Amino acid sequence: MHRRARVLIVSGPSGAGKGTLIEGLLRRFSFLTVAVSATTRPQRPGEVDGREYHFMTPDGFEAAVAEDRFLEHVVYAGHHYGTLRSEVDRHLALGRSVVLEIELRGARAVREALPDAVSVFIEPPSFEELVRRLKGRNTEAAADIDRRLEESRVELAAMAEFDHRVLNDDVERAVEELAAIVDAETRMEHA
Ligand code: 5GP
Repeated sequence: MHRRARVLIVSGPSGAGKGTLIEGLLRRFSFLTVAVSATTRPQRPGEVDGREYHFMTPDGFEAAVAEDRFLEHVVYAGHHYGTLRSEVDRHLALGRSVVLEIELRGARAVREALPDAVSVFIEPPSFEELVRRLKGRNTEAAADIDRRLEESRVELAAMAEFDHRVLNDDVERAVEELAAIVDAETRMEHA
């Protein structure tokens, strides 16, 4: 089947399970790829530079901003994050849809820059569950978890502005729902 190459924004609070659901999507659809963002946050154990993120120094990030290399960029929980234009453009040019896993302000900026982008909000089952997941994954210090939870409250309050919302109560079910959205939004209608 022919697919329309689109930009798919997947947003939602840290700990909602965006990454896990996107992995499920990628296994299912070969026409999808993920744009690798740039960040100045410290690399976590197991993360590979160029795979999870392009890890940058604050100076390097600033230089990239000055060169207008970002489609959008934000400061989130004390670190810079940004979507590189090159990551999006090269996939679209090859006819592939591109998934952007980004937080709320980035999602807003991309929607404005690319009105044709489809936005999906991944909703955690409850705020308590989000707290449990963030603490359980052991990747952030306590102060970082608090900052992320603060960001999460703002993000949850904005979920109505997204084109679609997927409740991540059960990973398999949520992947199915997300896949149905991607399928419908990239399908080419034949005349
Ligand atoms: P983490 O540090 O947990 O990998 O990411 C923190 C938050 O930043 C997550 O909500 C993630 O989706 C978001 N994020 C990752 N890359 C980008 C980006 O390029 N732009 C924006 N706006 N947010 C991003």
